[in-house]
Amino acid sequence: MPHYDVIIMGGGPAGATVGTLVKKYSPHLRVLLLEKAHFPRHHVGESLLAGASPVLNDMGVYDRINQYGFIEKSGATYVWGHDRQPWGFDFDRVVKPLLDRGIALPEMYSKGWQVRRSEYDYQLLLHAQEMGVEVRQGARVTHVRQDSTGSRVVGVDYRDEDGPASVDCTWLMDCTGQDALLGHALDNRQYSETMNNYALYGYWSGYQWHEQYMGHPRFTRIFLATSARGWFWCIPASDTVLSIGLVTNRQTLQSLKESSALDLYLSEIESCPEIMAILDGAQMTRLTPDQNRDLYVVQDWSYESTQKAGNGWAMAGDAAGFVDPILSSGVMIAHELGQKAAYAINSSFCATSDADIQRYWQFYEDTYRTYLHAYRQMAEFWYGNNFLMENWWWEAQRTINRTNALELNAGEAFMRLASGYAYRAESLSLFGSYPLEEAQQLVNGLFGVPYEAVDVRSQYAGKPLKLKANAQMGEGLYFFQGLVRKTRRVINSETQAYLDLHPAEEIVLRLLDGAHTLSDLDQVVSQIQAKQQRMPIRNGLDMLVQLDNLGVLA
Ligand SMILES: Cc1cc2nc3c(=O)[nH]c(=O)nc-3n(C[C@H](O)[C@H](O)[C@H](O)COP(=O)(O)OP(=O)(O)OC[C@H]3O[C@@H](n4cnc5c(N)ncnc54)[C@H](O)[C@@H]3O)c2cc1C
Repeated sequence: MPHYDVIIMGGGPAGATVGTLVKKYSPHLRVLLLEKAHFPRHHVGESLLAGASPVLNDMGVYDRINQYGFIEKSGATYVWGHDRQPWGFDFDRVVKPLLDRGIALPEMYSKGWQVRRSEYDYQLLLHAQEMGVEVRQGARVTHVRQDSTGSRVVGVDYRDEDGPASVDCTWLMDCTGQDALLGHALDNRQYSETMNNYALYGYWSGYQWHEQYMGHPRFTRIFLATSARGWFWCIPASDTVLSIGLVTNRQTLQSLKESSALDLYLSEIESCPEIMAILDGAQMTRLTPDQNRDLYVVQDWSYESTQKAGNGWAMAGDAAGFVDPILSSGVMIAHELGQKAAYAINSSFCATSDADIQRYWQFYEDTYRTYLHAYRQMAEFWYGNNFLMENWWWEAQRTINRTNALELNAGEAFMRLASGYAYRAESLSLFGSYPLEEAQQLVNGLFGVPYEAVDVRSQYAGKPLKLKANAQMGEGLYFFQGLVRKTRRVINSETQAYLDLHPAEEIVLRLLDGAHTLSDLDQVVSQIQAKQQRMPIRNGLDMLVQLDNLGVLA
């Protein structure tokens, strides 16, 4: 039987990301991707967050997507509840504080697209293939095989146009989206009671462009507006076609009885003046030739697999969990966690012990949970409240500040979640997919704005510095440049909150002995940087503020 190092089931954004990044960083590994459909295939989920772009860059496909001709997305506009006054934000507001300081960040940090998923996903799959992934389309996985003791996944059975076939593997990735092959087989999916919605969506041509809702035709925004029984998304999916989706709850759909889903969809459009204004004179159409009906009805329940990795297997993307379309976060999470899964695979193949492999995948699970929960809390809050924007902002702030220990004002916190940068900094300085020096710029300059002010420096200047007794050292992990890497971690033993350190920062930490001051710290940092220009390391003040936030600075 043929054997592969890695088999990936499903070729959507998650599967293509895993395949590409395994081949990029471990080109010697044999990777097979089995996809049941023939691409290009229709898929919902056209509006991307800017937060996906750094992962596309890591995959080496950012330029290809950037130049493909998808419509550029700059942010989002909301008309929510009784107050029909539109409000919104642009992704570049997230990086503006850095630009104001003259720090040039690559444009990708503030760039997203509205995409036709059939074409977007196809480009990613082609790229994975060009990177050396063996891609088989029209190959549906029918069964996951385990060893004779039932304790380890060893391969899959699949069926394609040549009939049934079997392949063995060392590692299996489930990226089958909402089909969630492994999640169903293991029966380990938990569904949210509160977010059990349906989406009814179709495509429209001949509409009116309204700049206050949709942004500039070249720098578009996703537009979200409430209607009588739910809310609408409005996404310019091409130059001439809009994607208009209604999200409504199960009760509304169940109460339909005689009337059809199309009647509900059209009558809800009539109840929403802004969508009516946009669709003035428009007709329903189809977005791509592979689209097989005018109106789609999909259940967009929120769920999560209780276990996302095991002996010889893991899940990424919708196969592991799905939150809700409200924040347009699905594709970004598929990319982001697909990347982390690839890094964990790369590290597993060069690990020297089973214990290390287990730690990598536990770290992957923890990271995944953190991401999903951040977005789920926001979505639940959205549905569970009276849609007052101030409330939502406040919740975003609470969610982010709780784990990141950074002081953000409400607007910044919301923007960070809604742009996809919510939990990048979950271990504060070590930003996962970012090159650390860029990550550091983002953390220091943007999310740590308060300690930038001059009076913050004077707070520490000249003071002998010392760690409190509750500061403990431990070992942490972080995802960086293709691998899960070990790092040192400062832990507050009372709260268990922690700050991960870059190796060079341990030297700086040793200066917190009651005899040194901030200027000593800065001097050592300068010396390190003079030797190794690209060494990612916080300046003395940044380090102090983060340790202070952690509650370990005397
Ligand atoms: C109503 C709605 C609106 C949404 N809007 C947005 C949005 O605006 N922005 C956004 O970012 N996200 C949105 N999403 C979420 C987004 O569509 C998903 O999160 C994203 O597609 C996940 O990517 P994936 O690779 O995990 O799964 P998918 O893209 O679903 O890919 C899974 C692949 O696996 C294949 N597959 C399935 N079973 C098998 C099998 N047995 N064998 C082989 N192959 C198999 C499928 O054919 C498919 O190609 C929305 C979702 C819904 C429900």
